[in-house]
Amino acid sequence: MSEAPATGTPYPYDAPASQALFDRAAAVTPGGVNSPVRAFRAVGGTPRFMVSGSGPYLTDADGREYVDLVCSWGPMILGHSHPAVLAAVREAVSRGTSFGTPGEGEVALAEEMVGRIGPLEQVRLVSSGTEATMSAIRLARGFTRRTKVIKFAGCYHGHVDSLLAAAGSGVATFALPDTPGVTGAQAGDTIVLPYNDLEAVQEAFHRHPGEIACVITEAAPGNMGVVPPLPGFNQGLKDACRKNGALYLSDEVMTGFRTSRAGWYGVDGVVPDLMTFGKVMGGGFPAAAFGGRADVMAHLAPAGPVYQAGTLSGNPVATAAGLAQLRLLDEDAYRTLDAVSQSVQNLVTEALAKEGVAHRLQSASTMFSVFFTDREVRTYEDARRQESFRFTAFFHSMLAQGVYLPPSSFESWFVSTAHDERALQRIADALPAAARAAAEATAA
Ligand SMILES: *Cc1c(COP(=O)(O)O)cnc(C)c1O
Repeated sequence: MSEAPATGTPYPYDAPASQALFDRAAAVTPGGVNSPVRAFRAVGGTPRFMVSGSGPYLTDADGREYVDLVCSWGPMILGHSHPAVLAAVREAVSRGTSFGTPGEGEVALAEEMVGRIGPLEQVRLVSSGTEATMSAIRLARGFTRRTKVIKFAGCYHGHVDSLLAAAGSGVATFALPDTPGVTGAQAGDTIVLPYNDLEAVQEAFHRHPGEIACVITEAAPGNMGVVPPLPGFNQGLKDACRKNGALYLSDEVMTGFRTSRAGWYGVDGVVPDLMTFGKVMGGGFPAAAFGGRADVMAHLAPAGPVYQAGTLSGNPVATAAGLAQLRLLDEDAYRTLDAVSQSVQNLVTEALAKEGVAHRLQSASTMFSVFFTDREVRTYEDARRQESFRFTAFFHSMLAQGVYLPPSSFESWFVSTAHDERALQRIADALPAAARAAAEATAA
């Protein structure tokens, strides 16, 4: 059965086929889902079980079509079922699905990534963003022979034990300060600092001389809603790292190949020592990566002593999908993406302003999200001060009108190059009623 929503806002239970699947799922899977935010607990109601996707649209088990503004949390940057990506997948599958040996596809994908991003000299492919950040942290510790890691409140780097402290995404959605199952030893080497606060970083280096292996940050955070780095913040991190013998680890799992051809590096030009990738680079399949300086990557097995491995790493089907998608992401594609993103942002702001709803639309290149507050959001603390109950009402109105938003106010919205005039019009048509619902919403 579904949970009651977080607020008293009414929402329609008009998805009987999804509800039946959710009931079945709950019997065999904790909470009925395989990743927490999918369960709709922050907004209440029945999570939609999707059966197919085409271009900017998803179709659920009840046969209803939605304009998709989640895009699988980022990967589907060309829209769903892109013919060229599907063709590459079919071609790869026709030759077999996994060999457990090296293959040309993984080399070609690595070459494409390295070719786009100057500081990315070498990459190692893995199967999820979590694996990428976990492995990059291990490598940073092995390379520097230091133990401590600085991370920022509200930044999410996957569910790595040592990185779950004050994390964004689902951890923010559920307001979990920490999670049971992470030991004091695992969390104890993590220093959590407020985002966009360089002074706090300098002070931490001062307090822990020679102990900090790396600073990990989302290149431009999208897991507490979108909170871009203030001008000079990333460069300041890089400088502090260099001065103190630590590595600067830029987590581009979300921003990579989405915010530009070369990800967020292509936007701010700050040179990381290590980077992590996922989402877009997998073309909708489990493929992710970490990489960076060749002298650091040389410490990785079998070239060096830091162990890391994966049965399905560099999987031929996943790498074929990722490569096909990246090859279609040229400057034209990013111009289209930017135009779509701008259009949706403008439509949302217009509708909310018209109803007098206090809000901030924040963006980092083509990523954006809405905060229901009138103050700029620079930190996780700021993000938590928004009126999330307005988002709940807004979300359910959009959903009822066939627009699928991220089911939490702590997530970025994602667009694709497939969002055409018809899709934008459907968003525009849904917004006035949703803005009214947000204006009329009251806290529980
Ligand atoms: C999604 C995400 C991750 C985790 O990736 P998974 O593939 O879900 O494990 C890590 N870092 C950032 C910035 C992300 O957005």
